[in-house]
Amino acid sequence: MKYLILSIVFLSFSVFSQDSVGEQRTAVVFFDLLEDGKEPSIELFQKAIFNESKSVNNYVKEVSHQKAWLVGKTYPWLRLKGLGKTCYLSSNEVLESIIQNKLLDLTKVDRLLVFNHMNHTGECAKNNSFGFSTHGKETYSTSIGEVKLSLAQFSATNRFVLPKLPVQSLTNITSSVIAHELGHSFGATGHSNILDCGKDVVSFDRSKCTQSAIADMFTLMGGEGFYRPSLHFSACHKEELGWIGTKDESLIVLNKEGSSRRIKLRPFTTVGKNVSVRINLEGPLPVPCVNPNNCTVAIQSLFLEYRTARGFDENISKLPLESSRYYNQIVMSPEFYQASKEIKTNGIQLRGGFYKNDKCMTSYNLDVTPESLHYRNPQNNEVLSYSLYDNLDSFLLPGMTFTESVNGLSISMKEIDKEGNAVVEIQY
Ligand SMILES: [Zn+2]
Repeated sequence: MKYLILSIVFLSFSVFSQDSVGEQRTAVVFFDLLEDGKEPSIELFQKAIFNESKSVNNYVKEVSHQKAWLVGKTYPWLRLKGLGKTCYLSSNEVLESIIQNKLLDLTKVDRLLVFNHMNHTGECAKNNSFGFSTHGKETYSTSIGEVKLSLAQFSATNRFVLPKLPVQSLTNITSSVIAHELGHSFGATGHSNILDCGKDVVSFDRSKCTQSAIADMFTLMGGEGFYRPSLHFSACHKEELGWIGTKDESLIVLNKEGSSRRIKLRPFTTVGKNVSVRINLEGPLPVPCVNPNNCTVAIQSLFLEYRTARGFDENISKLPLESSRYYNQIVMSPEFYQASKEIKTNGIQLRGGFYKNDKCMTSYNLDVTPESLHYRNPQNNEVLSYSLYDNLDSFLLPGMTFTESVNGLSISMKEIDKEGNAVVEIQY
């Protein structure tokens, strides 16, 4: 009987223990599949991942609110031209190459990052991304027994992967792809998308909306190639990874109660209370799917995020006045930008969360000022409604209210108080 009670206690504890919290033993290895003498320097990756002020490790610390950090090192190039491979090795080939060359002890690794010097062109590029990762840890059978780790692989010299010191110009971090794939390694399954419902912020008619995958420019779980005003993962992904939650009150959760709450939301980079609010929606908001025949994607909860120009989100300060510099052919609707051409960011953003098997898969940035920013086609000067730009001003500013009548929800942004918190009133 005693044994039974003990095992139940252990079981309930293990459910709550999370891989992505605490020390992350990280091994960074390098496979030279070409041996042409043109491989990048390991020192660059060492600095970019572990040492620089805008390193991937400092990003992990900040975005996790100091709940996770990397401990580890880089290992010398393994010369593997003899394998005759021109593209990525399989997971098993990766692990056995490390074992056979006695590079390191894989049983003491949580996060394995593999950088390949290879020809990432032609069929290889067509069939493979320049970076990819397992979603969380996986258990592998190897010649030294079972090992449990996450495995991410990269094309080392791809321009989005190859680190720049002090930062890559578009992203304000040494390597955005390494940080993005680490997000998957930690367990983030999905990405950060945006939802566009024409002139409406949201709609219960799926056919009136489109979603743009991996297009949220305010988080690193969006994609590559655009200037990023901010980098922190969405609150939905942060909660999934155990980096914010109700236990330390960094996350406030609201269910429908028919009452009004006034909340002081602290800047999104804060360590401590009130980093985000999750509102559980009684009526989920449908989202269009890639496969419309079996479409069950919906926003089940709304997160409030108050992003400010701090830490890895500091470039948000450049968005107001320099948007046309970073976003080619952006057109500001005179209806919204009559007096000033300044994108105002001193407000909160709303991100929806789509869950599958109780895991936050995808976050959706909602545009509270729809059809305000457009794109001019330089070929024919035609101005197009373009959701990727439209969401750049997705800030609920002081004095603005977002209402959603089906759920009976209203979110009013009141003011930024003297302590620098966003004061929000939520009626739900
Ligand atoms: Zn991804």
